[in-house]
Amino acid sequence: MPKVTSDSASIRRVAVIGSGLAGLVSAILLKEQGHQVAVFEKSRGPGGRLSSKRVGDTGSVDIGAQYFTIRDPAFHAFLQTWAGNDTFSEWPGRFGFQHPQGGWQPFPDEARYVGTPRMTAVSRALSKHVDLAAQVRIARLIREDGHWQLLCAEDRDQGRFDQVIITAPPAHAQQILDDSGLAPMVDKVSDSAGLMLPCWAVAARLDDAVPLAYEGFRPDSDTLYWVANNASKPGREQGGGWWVLHATPEWTNHHLETDPDLIAERLIGAFRDITGYAGDVSEQIAHRWLYARSTDGGCPGYLWDGSEGLGLAGDWLAGGRVEGAWESAANLVAAMKED
Ligand SMILES: Cc1cc2nc3c(=O)[nH]c(=O)nc-3n(C[C@H](O)[C@H](O)[C@H](O)COP(=O)(O)OP(=O)(O)OC[C@H]3O[C@@H](n4cnc5c(N)ncnc54)[C@H](O)[C@@H]3O)c2cc1C
Repeated sequence: MPKVTSDSASIRRVAVIGSGLAGLVSAILLKEQGHQVAVFEKSRGPGGRLSSKRVGDTGSVDIGAQYFTIRDPAFHAFLQTWAGNDTFSEWPGRFGFQHPQGGWQPFPDEARYVGTPRMTAVSRALSKHVDLAAQVRIARLIREDGHWQLLCAEDRDQGRFDQVIITAPPAHAQQILDDSGLAPMVDKVSDSAGLMLPCWAVAARLDDAVPLAYEGFRPDSDTLYWVANNASKPGREQGGGWWVLHATPEWTNHHLETDPDLIAERLIGAFRDITGYAGDVSEQIAHRWLYARSTDGGCPGYLWDGSEGLGLAGDWLAGGRVEGAWESAANLVAAMKED
């Protein structure tokens, strides 16, 4: 385990709201500086949109983020140090897109990484380094005597902290700030947030081979935005022939309340039309993401109010991807240290 040092003049109590990548990175880096950090997560476990669903007896399928880039060597070093080399690996697939004028073209070459043997392997490993309270939805912050008191949705006191970092997606962050009467920060969030786009995700177990030479591709389709052969990712070879189909944001918006079984049928139908797959589908599941990817907003990287001890980090502040979530959190913690 990496050595935790206390090079900070004063130890602070910091609350981190959300345990997606941005929350876990913030918590780990603050702990590394010697601060006392508590992480609160509304869901059952950590990871946020780095998400995998269990299928069959032992398998799992990635229904959120499909892969991530590691363009910044510091991100690589962070993952190696805190998650470990065995929790992520390059996905050596072939990636392409369908040209509007017909035919298929490969995407430009770039290393794409995935968690192994599932996307959540990274967040699970990172979460081992932090104190995480799961199934606690933080609803309000109260400022009192220079401290923050956190209250959960059931209005129970979750403790007093010197500083708070919110890493929830912008709609949730805004709700917390609104309900806490923090209007100036709400304005900053609305200025910085791009549009969060929804996404219906379907995982389908295909019994036969797909007649297309790509493991991940973007079709030219009003219905399907992205398709991936989950079984082609490292560590998933034994889990069955699972594929993941993501709907376009526009199509998802028109079908937000549609029955999940019907969603699965429609996306699988679009997949058959595009790929020519005529084989059987033996299992299928659908999952609705209300907030999947963000369009570029103001992109300030992070938000930090040193006088109030209140910060925000997340992908939506730094380009809307997994690596952006890391970058946003790392830069926020660096700014807090300088303060
Ligand atoms: C379908 C889909 C496909 C994607 N594909 C890719 C891709 O291929 N490549 C890529 O780089 N990125 C992709 N992304 C985006 C990527 O998943 C995100 O950029 C990244 O995971 C965001 O991390 P985060 O920590 O900023 O936010 P999140 O992962 O959303 O974490 C926020 C956490 O806050 C918690 N939370 C919210 N409100 C509260 C509250 N009040 N109290 C306590 N906890 C709270 C949430 O439960 C969540 O765990 C995709 C996302 C989706 C959904």
